[in-house]
Amino acid sequence: MSSALIYAEDWEHIPELLSTSAALGLSPLIIFSHRDLIDIKVAAKNGASEIITHRLEPIPTYISRLLVQVISERQPRIILGEAKKNVREIFGRAAQRMGKACVNNCNNIDIAEGIVRIIRPILGGGYNGIQELIGSPVFVTIRPEAFKKYPVKSVEEPLITEIDLKLKRDSIKLVDKKTTKRSEVDLSLAKVIVGVGRGFRNKEDLKLAEELAELLNGVIGCSRPISSDLKWLPEDRHIGLSGKWIRSRLYIAVGISGQIQHVVGIKNAETVIAINNDPDAPIHKESDYSIIADLYEFLPVLIKKLRESKLRSIYG
Ligand SMILES: Cc1cc2nc3c(=O)[nH]c(=O)nc-3n(C[C@H](O)[C@H](O)[C@H](O)COP(=O)(O)OP(=O)(O)OC[C@H]3O[C@@H](n4cnc5c(N)ncnc54)[C@H](O)[C@@H]3O)c2cc1C
Repeated sequence: MSSALIYAEDWEHIPELLSTSAALGLSPLIIFSHRDLIDIKVAAKNGASEIITHRLEPIPTYISRLLVQVISERQPRIILGEAKKNVREIFGRAAQRMGKACVNNCNNIDIAEGIVRIIRPILGGGYNGIQELIGSPVFVTIRPEAFKKYPVKSVEEPLITEIDLKLKRDSIKLVDKKTTKRSEVDLSLAKVIVGVGRGFRNKEDLKLAEELAELLNGVIGCSRPISSDLKWLPEDRHIGLSGKWIRSRLYIAVGISGQIQHVVGIKNAETVIAINNDPDAPIHKESDYSIIADLYEFLPVLIKKLRESKLRSIYG
């Protein structure tokens, strides 16, 4: 049988990556991870037969070289990882070194007649592309939508193998580490999200959206300019092609125009409400309910009405 090598940047979604690999008919399942991160119980419970560990500093150049070393020894069919910035970089580097196929941000993956087939957003998220990956191994990063549930057989005790880079590592040195500011909220799990966009004139005005979110037992998300350019919210709050893909029951887009890069991330929200003062804003075409109004006039009234009424979120 063909094996899967699962790259673990962190261990949050290791169970899902293992069950996805098993659902593809791959076995044995091997995890490649930093020594300090490994959780043997989780690996065993979810069917990993081996954990290959390393102690490299978090420098993609070195990790990708070590990954190539591991792949050459173990010959997996697929190298699978979560679609995260660092993972994408490491996979891209390793695939380039090996001259193999590498695709990122897949929202579906299958193997049919020995060929790996993936679906992923293309052309700025406006379309879904179906691609067949020729050759072996192939590198694939997947989004949570691609996770497959599969009853895995637990393992008593995975084998632990520690390895080190055989090559010299003097070209790059780690001089400092700065952690990015993360919020405590995982948008991809939130049931109610109020999204804020450039229609807000000042950071302080986001209080209006926060208040609305609180009344609805929800959380705040945003368009990319709000987090990446204006830095009003942490990076992990931005929704869309290059951010989180949400699956909330309710999404209220306030002062967001609805460019395709944003909209692709809200396609799986159950109900979308847009609040925008421009009747021609594309977000209205993507929403179930459109409110054409100035957010500065509309939100205070909505908040007041919600406070006065006993009505609270039906979404828990
Ligand atoms: C490669 C790439 C990846 C990208 N990835 C993402 C991504 O993942 N997520 C993302 O969001 N963007 C992404 N973008 C950026 C995207 O193209 C848009 O620029 C961005 O989504 C626009 O943000 P916005 O809607 O907040 O701002 P704008 O487009 O400026 O829209 C602001 C809206 O607010 C409305 N408005 C203004 N004042 C008021 C008011 N008082 N009351 C009510 N409404 C008002 C306006 O009518 C307008 O429609 C990406 C771009 C590129 C090139």
